[in-house]
Amino acid sequence: MKNQHQIIIIGGGTAGITVAARLRKAMPQADIAIIEPSEEHYYQPLWTLVGGGVMKKEVTMKKESKYIPKNVKWIKDYAEDIDPDANTVSLRNGGILSYEYLVIAPGIQLDWDKVKGLKEAIGKNGVCSNYSYKTVDSTWKALSEFKGGNAVFTNPLGQIKCGGAPQKIMYLAEHYLRKNNLKDKSKVIGAFAGTVMLGVPEINEVLNGIVEKRNIDMRFYHNLVEVKAREQIAVFDVRDAKTGEVLKQEEIEFNMLHATPPQSAPDFLKKNAKLVLPNGPHVGFVDVDKHSLQHNTYKNIFSLGDSAALPTAKTGAAVRKQAPVLVANMKDLMAGNNLSASYDGYSSCPLVTGYNSLVLAEFLYENKYKPTFPINQAKERYDMFLLKRYILPILYWQFMLRGKA
Ligand SMILES: Cc1cc2nc3c(=O)[nH]c(=O)nc-3n(C[C@H](O)[C@H](O)[C@H](O)COP(=O)(O)OP(=O)(O)OC[C@H]3O[C@@H](n4cnc5c(N)ncnc54)[C@H](O)[C@@H]3O)c2cc1C
Repeated sequence: MKNQHQIIIIGGGTAGITVAARLRKAMPQADIAIIEPSEEHYYQPLWTLVGGGVMKKEVTMKKESKYIPKNVKWIKDYAEDIDPDANTVSLRNGGILSYEYLVIAPGIQLDWDKVKGLKEAIGKNGVCSNYSYKTVDSTWKALSEFKGGNAVFTNPLGQIKCGGAPQKIMYLAEHYLRKNNLKDKSKVIGAFAGTVMLGVPEINEVLNGIVEKRNIDMRFYHNLVEVKAREQIAVFDVRDAKTGEVLKQEEIEFNMLHATPPQSAPDFLKKNAKLVLPNGPHVGFVDVDKHSLQHNTYKNIFSLGDSAALPTAKTGAAVRKQAPVLVANMKDLMAGNNLSASYDGYSSCPLVTGYNSLVLAEFLYENKYKPTFPINQAKERYDMFLLKRYILPILYWQFMLRGKA
């Protein structure tokens, strides 16, 4: 195997493929390789609707081979280590590749084991999670088998992908219970480690109104630490609002429990002290400049997507805006010019609030509200639901992954 490439991309998910497609167009002659172990590519945003029973999970998966751009070499393996001084990447199955430029995009890691009993419980006794292709069916199973009692939805401490997803499924479930005359017999509980529904004040206000109107029992500062599946009890650390100190543990009985697993930077990055942030809320994520996406120490390294230490929500929508910036800046660097493109922190969260409604949150760094459409986005809308259900998947598969949007 050729072990030298001009550009190596680690990860062929949303970020890796989008960047590869754009690099291919911007530099037709460049020698580009992607390291990606998976044969499948997932459109994760639809997992919310799969969990709600709107569609089958199979529609969210396509063959990775269809999306590796032409003349880009696919190395089907895991990156295991990066030596930024030697400009090399080691592979899990042996072999060392060298690069001139590196893009780091292996996403975020799901730490199921950090919640005692969770992994073993998924799919049984009402325990479920939308957070992986493997588990997403468990949500519709739990919801469609639910006959009343407590339906509990969790949201962990720390960075997660799509910060809104833990509450989207909660709203869907609540709507499902109303549609099926089960609401009187049940209680919907949101037990979240955070302090507010969403950091963007304009949207937070709308979500608070929804929670109140639908009689959802929201409990903040609650971090899931254990699932006792047989007894159907979820155990939470309850933290002090000011100090963050754990004050006590609280047990909540459930008949259905949708768990969002704790998440962190991939292990192989965490241990690479030269490349990642040593502490703070983005500990372990790749230390890049938040506007240029260039590494703060190693100028031939860039990162984007869920694995980059960017102070904005980790979403595919954010990747769509990051990818052209990264490609323009890499091109500038190669030409010896100053980096010209700047990412403003744009991210968006289509907050599904029911089977025919959605609040589209769009924002920049510092949670600055930035709606795109000339309509009132700060309310539940049917047209925005249709956008998510029908338009965005087309935008993703046919345009974004092809470097066209
Ligand atoms: C339930 C759910 C709902 C969501 N809803 C939305 C939404 O509505 N809107 C939205 O914009 N976003 C949403 N997202 C988030 C969105 O899917 C992610 O933010 C996006 O996929 C991030 O892209 P990425 O390339 O960084 O990571 P990913 O797309 O996860 O890709 C990472 C890739 O890296 C590969 N990889 C991992 N380790 C290695 C390694 N060691 N070496 C090489 N390759 C490796 C993986 O196999 C994977 O293919 C949602 C996510 C979930 C789970």
